[in-house]
Amino acid sequence: MIQNYSQTKSSEIDKKVENLLSKMTLSEKVGQMTQITLQAVSKTEGKVDQKYEVDPEKLREAITKYRIGSILNVYNSALTLDEWHQLITQIQDLATKETRIGIPVLYGIDAIHEANFTREATLFPQNIAMAATRNPDLVKKSAEITAYEMRASGIAWNFNPVLDVGRNPLWPRIYETFGEDTYLVSTMGEAYVRGLSGENNQIVATDKVAGCVKHYLGYSFPLSGKDRTPAWIPERMLRDYFLPPFQKAIEAGIHTVMVNSSEINGIPVHSDRYLLTDVLRQELGFKGFVVSDWEDVKNLYNRDRVASSPQEAVFMAVMAGIDMSMVPDDFSFYNYLMELVQEGKISESRIDESVRRILQVKFALNLFDNPYPDLAMKNQVGSPKFAQVSLQAAREALTLLKNDNGLLPLDKNQKILVTGPNANLRSVLNGGWTYTWQGNEESLYPKTQKTILSALQAKLGSANVTYIEGTTFDERPRVAEGRKGTREFDQAVNIDEAVAAANNVDVAIIVLGEATYTETPGNIHDLALPTAQLQLAATIANTGTPVVLVLVEGRPRIITPIVDDAQAILMAYLPGVSGGEAIADVLLGNYNPSGKLPITYPRHPNDLVPYDHKPIEIDNPNKLDPLFTFGFGLSYTTFDYSNLKLNQNQIRPGESITITVTVTNTGNRIGKEIVELYLSDLYRTVSPPVKQLKRFQGVTLQPSESKTVEFTLNQDDFAFHDRNNQLTVEPGEFKVAIGDLSNKFELLPY
Ligand code: BGC
Repeated sequence: MIQNYSQTKSSEIDKKVENLLSKMTLSEKVGQMTQITLQAVSKTEGKVDQKYEVDPEKLREAITKYRIGSILNVYNSALTLDEWHQLITQIQDLATKETRIGIPVLYGIDAIHEANFTREATLFPQNIAMAATRNPDLVKKSAEITAYEMRASGIAWNFNPVLDVGRNPLWPRIYETFGEDTYLVSTMGEAYVRGLSGENNQIVATDKVAGCVKHYLGYSFPLSGKDRTPAWIPERMLRDYFLPPFQKAIEAGIHTVMVNSSEINGIPVHSDRYLLTDVLRQELGFKGFVVSDWEDVKNLYNRDRVASSPQEAVFMAVMAGIDMSMVPDDFSFYNYLMELVQEGKISESRIDESVRRILQVKFALNLFDNPYPDLAMKNQVGSPKFAQVSLQAAREALTLLKNDNGLLPLDKNQKILVTGPNANLRSVLNGGWTYTWQGNEESLYPKTQKTILSALQAKLGSANVTYIEGTTFDERPRVAEGRKGTREFDQAVNIDEAVAAANNVDVAIIVLGEATYTETPGNIHDLALPTAQLQLAATIANTGTPVVLVLVEGRPRIITPIVDDAQAILMAYLPGVSGGEAIADVLLGNYNPSGKLPITYPRHPNDLVPYDHKPIEIDNPNKLDPLFTFGFGLSYTTFDYSNLKLNQNQIRPGESITITVTVTNTGNRIGKEIVELYLSDLYRTVSPPVKQLKRFQGVTLQPSESKTVEFTLNQDDFAFHDRNNQLTVEPGEFKVAIGDLSNKFELLPY
């Protein structure tokens, strides 16, 4: 059922909105549709050694002359709680006391893995890691804490969750997604929305915020894998794979939607009335407001060339369905939109539609009664209670991909070498959207945050831990003068030292992966892990010392040349502020890993097909050959599946089916198993995916303990878009698979 805020509180809020709207001038209305960046009204950036300072004159002009509706993000770096309080108070004072109509400003930030533009906030694992936990309750809790800590800063709008389905592993924003599977993204996204805005969507509560699902639609599937490059996605694929997470979030009452910055099938989405109005509003029933992405209204002219002037770009975007433009550096949108209405090209009633939607969110947030930060909320920000949730999320995310001869967990008396570019940095555990856009300012990270090295040292004692950096991320091989064809590495690489140290320890822990990035700076030409890192691992393995690889990376970088060199591999993703601690806990056996891959880990650079591919992909001499499949993840114990039962073998249209399975812990440690149910529609008129994840549930079992898990599938789970792009359910045979067991049932015709 759609629980939209405008339905739950509609009459009261609608009355207030209509009353206010009737008093507003055109300029006040167009101002509400304008969003600028904080940078545009700032004097200083606010870096480590420089206090942030707003430019009071520019701020006054933005609010009192242009009457802007919204401001976003930070200049170049996160602010402290006190700085946020000062800033938000200054903004709201101007908006509510020094404008004729007194509408508060809606401040928005990209709180992608927590209120990450507030210095004191708790940082969670990034979404890709949250997806590996398969634990929607943890996702919900993380969103609740995010909402609390944002409101404590005085910020009421979050440009998250990212509901793009990560189906191209090259894409630099994979880590912001909940992975490659539509059901997983939908489930985690819904949990996040409920945590952020409350079960009953009461964002009037002082510890809830409005969310923004993004990037509607198809942003995550660029053909080239590079950010902001064209996607070619047929309508059936858009509807089967990319639309459902947005639909679920709308049903959960999401308040705002941000638009795909790029183009699909040659049409920049910011100009696509079909997607922004027909599908989003008429089909999905979205009632909130639509915000553009960064500069993307301008881009219709500047970059995409579908508009032949900047004014036409504004016309196209507004008529397609954009309600607010993230301009964000100037007031050009305001000026052009004023002109368009004055010239009679856009009606004032079209403007009213957008302003109505924006005001509804502001009223729902209770900003009119209380636009100011609540000082009393400060104390809990970054509290140990919140940090514990982040640690638990990091532990549950870690995914054990290989563990030959039970090398892990390590014996606590062993001598270890810790090496690799990610072993002793804090930033790399968090990734982009941390304190700064790219998250790469190491000096901003709190000294209390443990790196992987310092966490291991704390648990094992420094005497048993040797550390050599080994290599930086991407030292490029260079050809030494006079020795054409021989490859050498730059001076900064101290592989030799690492190798020497490896000879004197029992185990080498090699921490490889990526530096921080997001968006276009994270574009890559090659999914392989840089050569220098592969070289470090291969050379250490040659010593014969057993190798544990720890991968700290936002996307699955190809590690095939060194897979056989490693006896154990732990995928850590971007595990957040407690990642160092959680990784040490898993390596040392203080925590038994249970994470499952939310994405296929490729073996070959040109074999990047998701797990729910079509049958034709395997009917091929060079059939798909991933390194690790979606859903894979080992434990320090073992589990056995038995008694897979269906409550009936034939079901009638409209009926549901119940599936039960027994899971037993057959090893000798307590452990958590994520039970996953996959469904295959064996024959249908549009070629079916070989299987699709339909349900999952974690069960914790003592040694020898068994539990029975029950799942129910209903008609929605059997639906797909047919040859006419209509949602349909076709009768026929289906297969249910859990673990290594499977069973079939028949869906009877009408
Ligand atoms: C990103 C969005 C983000 C916005 C504001 C854009 O470049 O694509 O995801 O919300 O910037 O920071």
